[in-house]
Amino acid sequence: MADIDTLIHDIEVGVRETRTHLGTSTLDARVLSAMRRVPRAFFVPGDAKVRAYDDTALPIAEGQTISQPYIVAVMTHVLELQPEDRVLEIGTGSGYQTAILAELVCQVHTIELSAELSTGAQHRLAALGYDQNRILFRVADGYLGWPEAAPFSKIMVTAAGPDIPPPLLAQLSAGGRMVLPIESAPGRQVLTLVTVDLDGRLAERPFLPVAFVPLRRA
Ligand code: SAH
Repeated sequence: MADIDTLIHDIEVGVRETRTHLGTSTLDARVLSAMRRVPRAFFVPGDAKVRAYDDTALPIAEGQTISQPYIVAVMTHVLELQPEDRVLEIGTGSGYQTAILAELVCQVHTIELSAELSTGAQHRLAALGYDQNRILFRVADGYLGWPEAAPFSKIMVTAAGPDIPPPLLAQLSAGGRMVLPIESAPGRQVLTLVTVDLDGRLAERPFLPVAFVPLRRA
């Protein structure tokens, strides 16, 4: 059974192998330390726990998946998180990615369409000691974002849709970054980094082929 050291090593190898896509051969050390601190086994169902430290996506409830750790690391890295960032996550799922984000910033807003998944994630994150004021949960269609809490300096979407949801773009502050998988053609998804500079100019950089579950609409 693999352990966290093996997993971190596998992520580092994966990053080196995809350096031409990523534009780097190493990730921010803070991201890898955050991944060492969060027990992934706690977020996967019983029968999958033996594979918790394999670098693969695993099934959670309701036909959804907990993302591959390499993908979690890469998405977290490209957001260039600072403790004071206002972070919005779409697709709470198991809560694993939420925990990684909460290791790096003071507050995370996270939206999940499935009430059952959101409740499960809330219990897990509370059990691990994440304070209620640090992670705010909402059960809703994340496509619409969280207008009352906007703007956000960083946004992460962990389910694939055909475009950059316009409400999310409207809730991203100047100087902000958003990472999301975009399904540009059936079966063809690309992880995309969206940046808005201080003058409000938008740049879109598709950089890595991926396979996420679909962003569903309420
Ligand atoms: N980040 C999660 C994995 C996400 S899988 C983890 O670490 O476990 C994608 C998640 O997005 C699923 O839980 C799915 O229910 C949720 N989802 C799909 N469409 C959504 C939408 N429109 N709004 C919010 N969540 C959505």
